[in-house]
Amino acid sequence: MSRATTDTTVEGVPTVCAQRLRVGIFGGAFDPPHWAHLALAEAALNQLKLDVLHILPTGQAWHKSRVLTPAEHRLAMCGLAFGDLPRTRLDVREIQRQGPSYTADTLCELAGEYPGAKLFLVLGADQLLAFKSWVRWPEVLEQATLAVANRATNVGADGALDQVQEMDLSSVDLPFERLHMPLKNISATAVRAHVERPISRNGALDVLVPEAVAGYISHNYLYQKHS
Ligand code: ATP
Repeated sequence: MSRATTDTTVEGVPTVCAQRLRVGIFGGAFDPPHWAHLALAEAALNQLKLDVLHILPTGQAWHKSRVLTPAEHRLAMCGLAFGDLPRTRLDVREIQRQGPSYTADTLCELAGEYPGAKLFLVLGADQLLAFKSWVRWPEVLEQATLAVANRATNVGADGALDQVQEMDLSSVDLPFERLHMPLKNISATAVRAHVERPISRNGALDVLVPEAVAGYISHNYLYQKHS
């Protein structure tokens, strides 16, 4: 699939030329989606000049041992978090897929749906460092260009920005493009920890997640410890 754009020749005569569609794929547990996910999606849309970005909440990710929050909640929160971003599609295929869900399969499907498009896989640095443990990773590399944002090494549950360092990617022997965004000391683990601690339940959760997501979490009593 291609997009038609209008170019101007030397004589000033406009001609139509075809360019490859640029399709981004941003997968994650999104349990819950937080501000860094949003910043990464925005950086990818703008810096890679994407025509469309698929947001793909995982089913039960093969590499996460923790049982994830039910998909209906994660999907609803993704809708709230990413809904206002342009050119973004919430894609439920990995949630609906039977059995373990692999990125290699998702990329094969998307390559079929966007014939001739250039595919970009959007990742945080932790995922790049773990990339060679992915199932069929060489196939993933053949299908898509990796687009990677750096990530803080030491994420505190309070999101403190003191002494935050970038992950060291100097030993990575894989081709990838850098996405530039301010380092955000946020993880979904830190968000869940923030909600679990009763003392902080009234604290500013919206420092970590968009306000609508914070509201959804508290309305549905997500991540609270049941004792
Ligand atoms: P958890 O803490 O539960 O492991 P997470 O915060 O890493 O979750 P995921 O949904 O697993 O969130 O991540 C989806 C994608 O977003 C991954 O590629 C991950 O590297 C990236 N990502 C998450 N947080 C950040 C961040 N603070 N900076 C850059 N990338 C991030």
